[in-house]
Amino acid sequence: MTEAWRPDGEDERRGAVGPVRVRVPAKVNLHLGVGPLRRDGYHELNTVYHAISIYDELTARRGDTLALTMEGEGTGELALDDTNLVIRAAHALAGYAGVLPHARLHLRKQIPLAGGLAGGSADAAAALVACDALWGTGLSRDELAGIAADLGSDVPFLIYGGTALGTGRGEAVSPVLARPTSWHWVVAIADVGLSTPTAYRELDRLRDSGAAGAPLGSTDALLGALRQRDPRVLARTLGNDLQDAALAMRPALADTLKAGEAAGALAGIVSGSGPTCVFLAADAASAERIAAELTAAGVCREARVAHGPVAGARVG
Ligand code: ATP
Repeated sequence: MTEAWRPDGEDERRGAVGPVRVRVPAKVNLHLGVGPLRRDGYHELNTVYHAISIYDELTARRGDTLALTMEGEGTGELALDDTNLVIRAAHALAGYAGVLPHARLHLRKQIPLAGGLAGGSADAAAALVACDALWGTGLSRDELAGIAADLGSDVPFLIYGGTALGTGRGEAVSPVLARPTSWHWVVAIADVGLSTPTAYRELDRLRDSGAAGAPLGSTDALLGALRQRDPRVLARTLGNDLQDAALAMRPALADTLKAGEAAGALAGIVSGSGPTCVFLAADAASAERIAAELTAAGVCREARVAHGPVAGARVG
């Protein structure tokens, strides 16, 4: 534990004096295996997370209170009070480290809200890393990931980034051994988000009524594909148990998936709980073409190209 930071005390020199800027990526699940519902209300997951180059940015400055402002995706829609994951993360770190939770935080959001890209979790991870630097609390990444796990299942992964296996409810993260390959993705963003808890409830309903597809099972084929460089091999191993639920709630997503494959994508899947669809492209030029065709076809609000894996929440 660290002693309380006092603005007028000796500890004033600790931490950053100028603004701290942290960039944090979105995640997609290359494999999202959803197991049984646990007694604590979470599902047991077996997932492979992958961080892609769509970023939120959080700037932290010294202040006399804790305050959050924002611009970009979700502005005017997303509450900036104590329910925001940025504020919750700042309080969690301050409580852990024994410092005052004082900072002026500004979020520039590019990750769409409720898109299945873990934008809120990314912002929580960014807040932990930014406030750690601002307050000079000097925690290790593993310590930050420990605090992150209480904020949300995807938050620890976004502290680390890269490609990683997630187990438990997704909060137990271990890095995946992979070749240093950069994969090319197209991310088709929908007009309106989908709620993650509702998607899980829909999956339970489909499973109870026998209408859900067979569960994905092992990640072995995917992990093998990640050790090679061939996107065609990787394409065959992508999978998401929540996809049926997302398609049941938003049937138009089937058109988005079809349009991406018709445009030359090697594979397309719903990202997490949706409604964002992600497509694997053979190379960067192909990704640009697919994104242009998806936009022209009017099957999404916006199609962006991205690459992965990228690092997790980082200062600079
Ligand atoms: P996941 O992929 O982790 O299931 P998601 O990408 O579908 O999440 P998010 O955008 O992370 O969805 O957020 C879901 C909900 O979390 C929002 O609708 C909002 O109520 C709440 N939330 C709290 N703080 C934030 C934040 N900083 N950014 C986004 N959402 C936030």
